[in-house]
Amino acid sequence: MAVTVVGSIAYDAVTTPFGERERMLGGAATHFALAASFFDTVHVVGPVGEDFADEDVAILATRGTDVTDVERVPGGRTFFWKGEYGWDLNTRETIDTQLNVFERFQPKLSEASKAAEVLFLANIQPELQLEVREQCTGARFVAMDSMNLWIDIARDALVKVIERVDCVVLNDAELRQLTDRPNVLTAAREIISWGPSVVVAKQGGYGAALVTAEDFFNIPAYPIESVVDPTGAGDTFAGGFVGYVARHVDRATDRRVLRNAMAYGTAIASYNVEEFGTERVVRLQPDEIYARIEELRELTHFEPVPLELAAGFAVGRDASQGDASQPRDNL
Ligand code: AMP
Repeated sequence: MAVTVVGSIAYDAVTTPFGERERMLGGAATHFALAASFFDTVHVVGPVGEDFADEDVAILATRGTDVTDVERVPGGRTFFWKGEYGWDLNTRETIDTQLNVFERFQPKLSEASKAAEVLFLANIQPELQLEVREQCTGARFVAMDSMNLWIDIARDALVKVIERVDCVVLNDAELRQLTDRPNVLTAAREIISWGPSVVVAKQGGYGAALVTAEDFFNIPAYPIESVVDPTGAGDTFAGGFVGYVARHVDRATDRRVLRNAMAYGTAIASYNVEEFGTERVVRLQPDEIYARIEELRELTHFEPVPLELAAGFAVGRDASQGDASQPRDNL
């Protein structure tokens, strides 16, 4: 089993209340691959410029990720993104986006990338996502992400991509923007009517929700007191989620598989935010992930304690029946 990912490979300039970086390795495909590589072989597809450092290629190749389809464009510059976070880290402003080598990129996938059973179309121009989707004819589970920029300037192309995937992973504000529905559940149902069978709504510091035709599931973010830089948390979540599904691709839409995938995505993303960029996930170890999966189980578990609640009065009901409705505690 293998996972192919296409998406930005970037240099990011990021300012958070806890510091700044002028030029660090980032990009949606980068963060995705670092997380998904815990589960499977990952093939990364995308261009970089002449300015892309060899040590950053080495980071991309962490845990055996295949970088054969990372194309260095002669004379080109790597995708660049600059963002600034508000004081509570839940709001972010994009200051600059330079597509650079992505502007003219025409993906030609190696046989290994084409043959992957799982495909993730990470955030990048929808036209490019579609070109890669068309080349991966053998993919059995295809998921995708996107962002407000592409909803604003390339909505029709984006909808065409959505119609060709099994799973959409988007921020909950983007889901609402895309469907023009104010409610995440109805927005997800609308997307499901376009073709995908799974919708994941990422909710930043509040966690993530999963919607399928048969299931609804919500998981909180793992509580971290010292969030330093949330950049890439969404892509890291997607890498954990899709990586877990890839290991169970025969049962990719099974409720138990999808719920576990939500937990793995959440656990790995919680490490990503503890340091800038890729710094923390590069050196993350499996035991640290298992530990947070267990804690997430604890966090979301509660034992039922039966008790009787007071019944209300239906309009017009005889008030003399009121005594029977006093609450009783069965603890
Ligand atoms: P996230 O924090 O998970 O939403 O992802 C942040 C990453 O997305 C950064 O590392 C950026 O390089 C990358 N990114 C930002 N804007 C875009 C865009 N328009 N297209 C593709 N990737 C982007």
